[in-house]
Amino acid sequence: MAGRIPQQFIDDLLNRVDIVEVIDSRVPLKKKGKEYTACCPFHSEKTPSFTVSQNKQFYHCFGCKANGSAIGFLMEYEHMSFPDAIEELARSQGIEVPYEGGQRPDPALKKAQTDLYELMADANQFYQTQLRQHADAEIAIRYLKERGLSGEVAKDFGIGYAPDGWDNLLKALGTTKEREKGLVTAGMLIKKDNGKCYDRFRDRIMFPIRDRRGRCIAFGGRILPKDTPNDKDAKYLNSPETPLFHKGRELYGLYEARQALRDIPRLMVVEGYMDVVALAQFGVRNAVATLGTATTPDHLQRLFQLTSEVVFCFDGDRAGKDAAWRALQTCLPEMRDGRETRFMFLPDGEDPDSYIRKIGKEAFESEVKQSQTFSEYLFKQLTEEADISGIGGRAKLVETARPMLSQMPEGIYRKLMFEQLEKLGRVELSTSTSAPQTNRRSRAFRQAAKKSSASMTPVRKAITYLLHQPTVAKAWHDTGRNSEILKTLDLPGMDLLLEVLEILRINPNLSTSALIERWRETPSGSHLAKLASEQPELEDDAALEVEFIATMDALLKQSVDHRYDDLQAKLDHSTLNETEMAEYKMLLQQLYAAKSASKSD
Ligand SMILES: [Zn+2]
Repeated sequence: MAGRIPQQFIDDLLNRVDIVEVIDSRVPLKKKGKEYTACCPFHSEKTPSFTVSQNKQFYHCFGCKANGSAIGFLMEYEHMSFPDAIEELARSQGIEVPYEGGQRPDPALKKAQTDLYELMADANQFYQTQLRQHADAEIAIRYLKERGLSGEVAKDFGIGYAPDGWDNLLKALGTTKEREKGLVTAGMLIKKDNGKCYDRFRDRIMFPIRDRRGRCIAFGGRILPKDTPNDKDAKYLNSPETPLFHKGRELYGLYEARQALRDIPRLMVVEGYMDVVALAQFGVRNAVATLGTATTPDHLQRLFQLTSEVVFCFDGDRAGKDAAWRALQTCLPEMRDGRETRFMFLPDGEDPDSYIRKIGKEAFESEVKQSQTFSEYLFKQLTEEADISGIGGRAKLVETARPMLSQMPEGIYRKLMFEQLEKLGRVELSTSTSAPQTNRRSRAFRQAAKKSSASMTPVRKAITYLLHQPTVAKAWHDTGRNSEILKTLDLPGMDLLLEVLEILRINPNLSTSALIERWRETPSGSHLAKLASEQPELEDDAALEVEFIATMDALLKQSVDHRYDDLQAKLDHSTLNETEMAEYKMLLQQLYAAKSASKSD
């Protein structure tokens, strides 16, 4: 297929790079026995469960189950596409990526994306320059100064100024038709029906919104405080959704928080950009803001990748309370053990900016730390709504709370929440009601995982051995045994086992990760990754080889028996054709040979 990267190249590339080096340069690793460990970059933790195996060229986290090859790591950690991750690894080795047909798929699209990032960087630069130089920037500067903002923090956050007028940005950056088109796509210009374009952001303080890698992907613009505010202008204006910007995923200030802090014990979600920036001015560098939306599950996942505690900071008014309750509901499925969310309500009429100004950093931070926990807030809210001194109220409480708590992932936290509900409702909830169906699967999975390899099916065992030591495939092929007949055995996973064996027959030197790469983004791929992550109980390579061949032999015997029974049954009722007869005779021979071998033992 044109534009594809040849498999051979990917294999060779994964052979050349060392995953330990790739990860270590981004997440410093410590050597521990045969493997390398670190605190997981994909979930928040205090003791390392992130493990990198040099042997398998594979990483794996026992906590969040993240796993993959060097390619997979770059895709996850750097948010790269598959071809980009390969390009990056190839670059590190000083080699060029070949594409079938000589071309990268849709290079125009790729270039267009790069151009958009460049245009956004240019726009950011333009606005920052305007803040320093434009004659009208004075009001903006005065506003920022009144909020106590230092030049340093303004620079950290890349704050700028979009001058009043319809075509400032257009004139400065839209120098060619192509750039103009790009600026429209990036949401910076608006195209009228007659084809003419104009600036989206006018006479506003500009806050660049940066992605995880620090690239400007959108803007938030705040109107300037004027004597006669124009009511038609919204106070805040955000970039629209663009190929670079999806507001349900991005958080303002997250990049800056990561830059400023090494460890992030908690992240605070506030309402607006100005709150984030003002808190940063007071040395509170862990605040982020959603961008004109409520907190989404995507947001929460990103937050919990970086920290174990998320504090929502809301206005104390009705709107703030409604927003908090909505946030709590979004949190329910994310409340795994080890995570906490808190809810902080500001006094009437205060925003985080005015409040920290009034009480100071220390008092503010201690209020954050002491704000209501998830369980406190949830039960306080529900018991306020229902009078639990009577049976009716308690029934209402249980009725409302039970489906909510059922959304929590299984674990101690959930269990304690249900216990608290039982106490408040003065009822005993049967386990079947506290553990809804949706969690049965994961429980079954955990139980299955707990089973020792002794109770693993032979197919699963064989695949696991192949993943731990891909060279055992060669040992198997060297025995000269014919695996063909295994195809007749209808066992779960058999197709996959044979596929793995065949790939390793052709490419005997593949590493575990290169092997698994072939199933990227397929159910088999995640199944293989899971098996590869399991700790091998046979540390010795030689023992593993013996065990693998024994397992395969057992499967072979099973398929011979099975196939023989099939043919025998057919022979009893009708006749066999020529090939079947030949096969039948061959099987018969094999069975005799096996019998006499076991007798002589
Ligand atoms: Zn993890």
